[in-house]
Amino acid sequence: MANRSLPILMPNLPWQKYSCHGCGDCCRDFTVQLRERDLKKLSEQGWTERLGGEVVQSFRGQSYLSRKDDGSCIFLDPHGLCKIHAEFGFSEKPIACQVFPFNIAPDASGIKVGLNFLCKSVQRNEGSALGTHQKDIRRFIRAIPELARPAPDPPLASGESAATRSEVAKLVDSLDHWLSRSDLDFSNRLDGLAFISTCLGDATLKNVRNERFSDLLDTLFSVLEEELRLQPPSAASRRQDRLLRQAVFTRTEDPRIGTGKGRVRSTLSQLKRSRAMRLGRGKTPFLTAELPVGVDFRTVGGVAGCEESLDSVSIAELFTRYLRATLHSGRAWGSAYYGWSVTDGLQALVLNAACILWIAKLNSASASRTVASLEDYQRAIGRVDRQSGRAPWLGNPVERVRLNYLRMDHGFRRLIYSYL
Ligand code: SF4
Repeated sequence: MANRSLPILMPNLPWQKYSCHGCGDCCRDFTVQLRERDLKKLSEQGWTERLGGEVVQSFRGQSYLSRKDDGSCIFLDPHGLCKIHAEFGFSEKPIACQVFPFNIAPDASGIKVGLNFLCKSVQRNEGSALGTHQKDIRRFIRAIPELARPAPDPPLASGESAATRSEVAKLVDSLDHWLSRSDLDFSNRLDGLAFISTCLGDATLKNVRNERFSDLLDTLFSVLEEELRLQPPSAASRRQDRLLRQAVFTRTEDPRIGTGKGRVRSTLSQLKRSRAMRLGRGKTPFLTAELPVGVDFRTVGGVAGCEESLDSVSIAELFTRYLRATLHSGRAWGSAYYGWSVTDGLQALVLNAACILWIAKLNSASASRTVASLEDYQRAIGRVDRQSGRAPWLGNPVERVRLNYLRMDHGFRRLIYSYL
C-alpha cells in the first residue's frame, strides 16, 4: 500500500498537548460519516436489534450514524459516554470518532497530522505530548483507505508549480517567529499576519522561487514592523463588512441530516438566512445550533474586543496557539485544505481569524456583555475550525473570489482592526 511508504509528518508542536477527557462534546456536535469497515462492525455488534432502531442513516449516497432528537449521537449515553466504547473498546468505534481531534491528510511529502481546535482539551492544552499519539495515528492510517492515495503537494500560489518543502518551511518558520514575538501586542502580530498574506497574495511568484522566495520573506519580515506603523489600517468598509458576514455564514452553516426538512425547504431557509447576513440589518439569523440567534447586528460591532478583555492574555495565547498549530501542521493548504495553494490558504486562514473575532463578539452580545470573554473566543475558534477543510463549500470558487475582493484595499487588515 502506498501509504505505508509515506512518512507520518507529526507537527513540531512541543507546546501543544492533547488527551481525550471524555467531555462528549464532539459526540453532540459532529455528524459521523461511516466507512465500509464501520458498517460491518456496527452490524456485527448487533446494535439495531439491541437499541430497537436504526443506528445508521443514509444521506445523498453516504452513511452516517443516526442522531437523537437533541442532535447528539445515538450511542451517547446520559453520562456523556460512548456505548460502543464502553462495551467493545476504543478501537471498535467508527474510525472518524477515533481520529478526532486529529486531522490526517496525505500529500506527496508524507501524511500530515493536525489538530482540530473544536476539541476543548486541545483548546485548553490539556493532556499528553502529541508524540505519544503516534501509535494510534499509525493505526488510523491503516484503517483509512483514502490515505493510500497521496495527493500532490500544494502549489506555492495559484497557477504556480508545487511549493518545495524548504519554501513551505521557510514561510511557516517566519510566520511562527512573528506570531511568537513577546515584544509585540497580539493586535500587531495579527495585523502582521494579515499584511504578509496580502503581500504574498498580490505578488507574482513565478520568478521568485526557492532562495529568492526565502530572500523575499526575509525582506518582508525585516520591514514588517515599520510598515505596520507607517500604514495603520482603517476601519473596514461596508462592503468588507458584508463580505465578512457572508464568510461567517459559510463557516458556521451546518446542514444537518435527518432534520425532517425537505431539500427545497432547507435551501430556501439557507438563502433567507444568507441574505440576512449579507444585509446585516435587524437581528442575526439562525447560523447553527451552537451559536446565538436573534442578536441585534448593531450590538455585535459594539462589543469591545480581546485587548480590552480581562482575559486578554489567555485569549491571545489561545488564538496564537491555534494559528501556529494550523500553520505548522499544514492544515491551511494542500490536501488538508481543499488542495489550495499555500498563499491562498494563508489568506483563508486570515479570513478565518476575522470570522472568529466577529463570532466571539456575537457570543458576547447575545449575553449582553460589553467585552468578549475567553469562553466567547473558545466557542468561536471551535466553530470555525470545526468546518475548516471539512465543509466542501469552503473550497469552492466563491470563496476564492471573496478572498480576492478582501485582499484589495487592505481588506484583511481592516477587518482584523475593526473586530479585534
Ligand atoms: S459512536 Fe461513540 S464516540 Fe462516536 S460520536 Fe457516537 S458516542 Fe461519540
